Amino acid sequence: MEGDIAHYIVVGAGSAGAVIAARLTEDPKVSVVLLEAGGRDRNLWLHIPLGYGKTMTDARVNWMYKTEPEPNCAGREIFWPRGKVLGGTSAINGLVYIRGQVEDFDHWRQLGNEGWSFEDVLPHFKRAEGNVRGGDDLHGGDGPLGVSDLESHPLCEAFIAGAQEAGIPRNPDFNGRIQEGVGYFQLTTRRGFRSSTSVAYLRKARSRPNLRIVTGAQATRVLLDGKTIAFEMVAKLEVRNYSAAVEFQLLSDEECKSINLSRTKPIDAMAEGETAQTVCLADVAEAAKKTAAWNTRRAVELFSFVTGLNAAVPLDR
Ligand SMILES: Cc1cc2nc3c(=O)[nH]c(=O)nc-3n(C[C@H](O)[C@H](O)[C@H](O)COP(=O)(O)OP(=O)(O)OC[C@H]3O[C@@H](n4cnc5c(N)ncnc54)[C@H](O)[C@@H]3O)c2cc1C
Repeated sequence: MEGDIAHYIVVGAGSAGAVIAARLTEDPKVSVVLLEAGGRDRNLWLHIPLGYGKTMTDARVNWMYKTEPEPNCAGREIFWPRGKVLGGTSAINGLVYIRGQVEDFDHWRQLGNEGWSFEDVLPHFKRAEGNVRGGDDLHGGDGPLGVSDLESHPLCEAFIAGAQEAGIPRNPDFNGRIQEGVGYFQLTTRRGFRSSTSVAYLRKARSRPNLRIVTGAQATRVLLDGKTIAFEMVAKLEVRNYSAAVEFQLLSDEECKSINLSRTKPIDAMAEGETAQTVCLADVAEAAKKTAAWNTRRAVELFSFVTGLNAAVPLDR
């Protein structure tokens, strides 16, 4: 990276951001600044698969969001964990390696989204995947993301056998051509440790001279100047200019503290012709609330279905 000039700024070093920053900087001519609000992933529990029992409620590595009281859930606030650390939520999640359903990708393509059919996305899955079972037409064997098998257990085997007796087929691979069935899923682990995107992608990339990773750097504002190319972001970095390259300057801790996070305003509240405006994505918050309510409703419906008890009544009040 030449002085304080970078080609890209990636905000958030989570599942997506860490991969994007690492892939972009494979080209030594491309320079990237990666901003992460959380810290380094030094906490041991981020690397031990069952550590999520600890990190799920650890505010040092977790945003610990809660929804607003949700009318569809009897006024409850729904807990909404998200990773706040290098690796993002991939450092605290449930490690289950199951791709989207083939039919869903194909449906997206049918709706007109080029590049999103299953055959289109499959090479990217394979490129990412380092499956202990090795590579084949559906899997990658030498990608950076470790994918491993769970050990079989007599209780699990008894459950699977019971499901099979009930007519559900055993499925040895939920990322195979057929996703229906009962069996063990695979985990995003390698040799017993979690394969977060920080481990899988940034460990190798972090020593590149064209990648600068800044932790403890929460981007707080995106300023639009109405011409769509101007983009300013305030974090530990102040970006002064954005066109083909980005010029930035490190802010002091004192300057960071003085940033006023409450100066956000929904994008649709901008006056026409306004030249520089801080915006917040109100739609994102709204969609998150709806998802929480929907997930809870589905869980209750499933509970009712399995137990025969009618648990739907409180939700509708
Ligand atoms: C409890 C839980 C369990 C899950 N289990 C599974 C599972 O088993 N299998 C599976 O496939 N998926 C699972 N998921 C879902 C999956 O982990 C997420 O969908 C995925 O990690 C999201 O990736 P992302 O890149 O969108 O966001 P994240 O990985 O959350 O990354 C966002 C990053 O941006 C940073 N950030 C946010 N705002 C700013 C800012 N303003 N400035 C700078 N940095 C910022 C955050 O700190 C974070 O590091 C689970 C999710 C949760 C919450």
